[in-house]
Amino acid sequence: PSVGQVLPEQPELKILRRKIPGFVGFANLPKQWHRKSIRRGFNFNLLVVSQRGFGKSTLINTLFNKDLDSVSGKNSGNNQALTEKLEGVSLEDGEHGENGSNNGIGNDEGSNSETSGLHASVKINAASTTIEENGVNLRLTVIDTPGFGDAIDNTDSWKPIVDEINLRFDQYLDSENRISRTFEEDNRIHACLYFIEPTAHFLKPLDIEFCKQVHEKCNLIPIISKSDILTEEEIVVFKRRIRKQLEEANIQLFQPPQYGFDDEEAIQASHELYDNMPYAVVGSTDVVISKDGRQVRGRSYPWGVIEVDNSKHCDFVYLRDLLISQYLEELRERTSKVLYERYRSEKLSKLGIKQDNSVFREFDPDMRQREEKQLHEAKLAKLESEMKTVFHQKVSEKEKKLQKSEAELFSRHKEMKEKLSKQLKALEEKKRQLESSANAPAPPSPAQPKKKGFLR
Ligand code: GDP
Repeated sequence: PSVGQVLPEQPELKILRRKIPGFVGFANLPKQWHRKSIRRGFNFNLLVVSQRGFGKSTLINTLFNKDLDSVSGKNSGNNQALTEKLEGVSLEDGEHGENGSNNGIGNDEGSNSETSGLHASVKINAASTTIEENGVNLRLTVIDTPGFGDAIDNTDSWKPIVDEINLRFDQYLDSENRISRTFEEDNRIHACLYFIEPTAHFLKPLDIEFCKQVHEKCNLIPIISKSDILTEEEIVVFKRRIRKQLEEANIQLFQPPQYGFDDEEAIQASHELYDNMPYAVVGSTDVVISKDGRQVRGRSYPWGVIEVDNSKHCDFVYLRDLLISQYLEELRERTSKVLYERYRSEKLSKLGIKQDNSVFREFDPDMRQREEKQLHEAKLAKLESEMKTVFHQKVSEKEKKLQKSEAELFSRHKEMKEKLSKQLKALEEKKRQLESSANAPAPPSPAQPKKKGFLR
């Protein structure tokens, strides 16, 4: 309507503001998530690094309350050697060779990959099993490293283990970049349990070197095994020394996060877990009778019983809380969001793909898509340049061949030409001779010789 035009009177509009009855329903999300997680189960990949005889098998069995020796084949000797070639395109050629462990292969199966050459003494054995507790399934894979530190010269003992951690990151990276993504299998190392010998002295150079090599690649949890052979005072001093040595070497241990707690007590418990590292643990699956007549898991001595599950006797409970009952999900999350992201980011920047500087960035789907595009483009560019090289090589080979056959043809042509010109010359000569003989006056015919009359 134009300005000044009188509008007919409009009926008054009534806007009703009412609350929609009922509810939207997203309050159920935690329940849905819970149901889904229970159905899917959880997986946990634990790397254990220990010298022989430090009590590793006993401790793992104590932790998961299961005889895992039969899983790893330690007693049954049924280890199946499996070498699996990395699927898909390897981002960096020749970094790991072709050997790798293959875990998560069906129930209760053992796998084993032997490293070669320089590191022949350290093996990587992976064994998986499913543990069920109150309807929750935990698919546990223990990655064992027999031979670590057992040789006379252990300088490079850590290398096959670091290679294994990297290999598992690479496999995950490959699966992420595949068109049909399957994230069901997460073979990355979620935690590394490092066994320290209960010497009551200091960490050995190999201990420090190993921790330095892995602390940025996996959640490092050091433990002093068989700690019942030390006195309480010795343990206190030993722990303090170890922490100092680790700090001096800038080695970072897994620190349980403090966020997400609303009560002071929980925050305190989390601090306590971190402060008590390295845990002085005792392992035993034997049931013994305690001083006050209870049946407990522990070790029995003439002077009394040491209870595994009693925090007044040893640090086993701390370890179980940190590794399983309190922070298993945190260990998995840190592996994925911090350690793997750092590895991935370094790998991509090695390929010349620019990353944002923050390693600890939150998951950003756009950013991820851009990175994937860059990664894909980098792969294509590499492929293209390889194809170009091959093409140029082929072309130059063909050119050389052609040049050669051209030269041959030329010389043959020359030869033929010379031959023909010789023949021509010879013919011309003959022709000349014939012509000159035809033009010359005919010589007088010789007198007929008289026939001798032999008929006479
Ligand atoms: P692994 O070679 O590292 O797997 O060690 P094992 O678990 O086979 O244990 C080697 C020996 O140490 C066995 O005789 C165990 O009974 C013993 N052992 C294991 N854990 C402890 C422990 O916490 N305290 C003591 N005193 N002995 C232990």
